[in-house]
Amino acid sequence: MPERIGPGGEIGEEPGRAKSLGEIQTLLREKVELPSPPGIVVRILEAVQDDDNCFAELGRIIAADPSLTVRLLRVANSSLYGCSGRVKTIENAVAILGINALKNIALSFIIVRRLQGRENDLFDFQGFWKRSVTTAVAAKILSPLMAYNSDDIFISGLLLDMGILVFHQCCTDLYLDVLSRKNATDLPTHVVEREILGVCHAELGGALLKEWGLPKSLYLPLLYHHRPAEAPEECRLSVDILQAACLVSAVYHDGQSRNHWMEVCRLLRDGYGMTEQAVRDTVDSVALHAGEILGFFDLPADQMRPLSELLQEANQELGKLNCGYEQLVMDLKQAKEESRKNIDKLIEAKRKYRELAYRDELTGLFNTRYFQELMDKELARSQRYEHSLGLLFFDIDLFKDINDNFGHLGGDQVLRGVSEKVKQIMRTSDIVVRYGGDEFAVVMPEVLCSGLKVFAERLRRGIESLVVLVDQVEVRVTVSIGGAIYTSRNPEINKMDMLSAADKAIYQAKRSGRNRIVVAEV
Ligand code: GH3
Ligand code: MG
Repeated sequence: MPERIGPGGEIGEEPGRAKSLGEIQTLLREKVELPSPPGIVVRILEAVQDDDNCFAELGRIIAADPSLTVRLLRVANSSLYGCSGRVKTIENAVAILGINALKNIALSFIIVRRLQGRENDLFDFQGFWKRSVTTAVAAKILSPLMAYNSDDIFISGLLLDMGILVFHQCCTDLYLDVLSRKNATDLPTHVVEREILGVCHAELGGALLKEWGLPKSLYLPLLYHHRPAEAPEECRLSVDILQAACLVSAVYHDGQSRNHWMEVCRLLRDGYGMTEQAVRDTVDSVALHAGEILGFFDLPADQMRPLSELLQEANQELGKLNCGYEQLVMDLKQAKEESRKNIDKLIEAKRKYRELAYRDELTGLFNTRYFQELMDKELARSQRYEHSLGLLFFDIDLFKDINDNFGHLGGDQVLRGVSEKVKQIMRTSDIVVRYGGDEFAVVMPEVLCSGLKVFAERLRRGIESLVVLVDQVEVRVTVSIGGAIYTSRNPEINKMDMLSAADKAIYQAKRSGRNRIVVAEV
């Protein structure tokens, strides 16, 4: 029975939607190749565990990374941390801010650096981090107003949605499905993620930080930020603050500032007794502080004008418009519909492009590029779960003669005929690729040695019985098959060992007379 995360604490019996951390981690391992923690994160976490030496050790680790040191000192001296100009060295920073705050600021920079990616047409990294930094700043500013005092809230805000980024980087294709579905339905992102991937970005982010060894006070708020009602007592307040911080960030980054502003106002006025003016001042100050902090993360602060300014401008613009409200709503709907269609087109084009990049034009089978990536993934999976993995190479015997007798186009027809035949014979869980020329490969996850040999024989006979009509002439071919099966559970075996074993086996099959099978164990 796996551990369950329950409402009264981290472990308990919680029916319904809640998944245990163990279940989440297993699900993730099946779908996503999770990034490993940067070495410096591990060293910092180890250092802060050692009560006696942590001052000196943390200082040494940080000082060894000059860019990190500069950034840390700039944050410590920023208006957000209120030590303007007083912090000159890392030792000062430790003394003034305390170990935990310093550790968290350091981890913030390191993790953001680790999760950087290249901008692409479907993911706006810069926009993502701008929103996250604003959430972090808002969380830090809101926490004393919401009667909470912790050095953890900034980093939790910063990493709140890191799961989205990891999904994007680690399972791009599946995440395209999430985007399309979200686009078509308007459902919230975390709901669509659960539908398609089984877990949402909140669960991924929380599980990843736990796996990296970060403390509960950091990973629990991430884990629960889309199901606050289920959050354990110890992180309930931070989850509330983070949700409010997200709303404030949305005011500046998600368009429709006015609607988000009204939501923030309702929440802080009704839930925390703040006056509208106090809410406005708070939201304004988020822009001012975030503008400063964004620079430390090398992000432009161009959108960070205080809310009051934005609202004032919007009011003036509205006053200028003399068209009716209904016309505005219609225009908005139309614009939204247009943008939805464009995103769908973009996603579809990207999917087609990827598909083409992995297909062989002549046969429609997967190509070598796909094969190389597949073998890396399957071998890693077999080694992690201690499964077997089979690989068959097969090459048409004396194919040059076919080309000589029937021309290149006749040869092409035979290649297509062989491809079709293999597809009919194999299991759906196996994958066949055209390796190049007249050589093909079949990757067979979790196959036993006996199963591999039975399939190889079926393949040999299937091709032997195949008749391809070329210019009304019945053409028959045979294939030589070389197999390699990984059963040794030896973690040292790599992809090249498998390829070279199958290669040698096929060579032996050719040398011993063709139309035969040789299988080697690795
Ligand atoms: P063996 O039994 O030793 O494999 O003899 P073979 O004649 O089949 O020799 P080999 O596998 O080395 O030759 C493959 C030939 O396939 C050589 C090349 O001209 C031909 N070929 C490669 N790509 C294509 C293609 O796309 N279409 C056609 N028709 N022929 C191709
Ligand atoms: Mg050949």
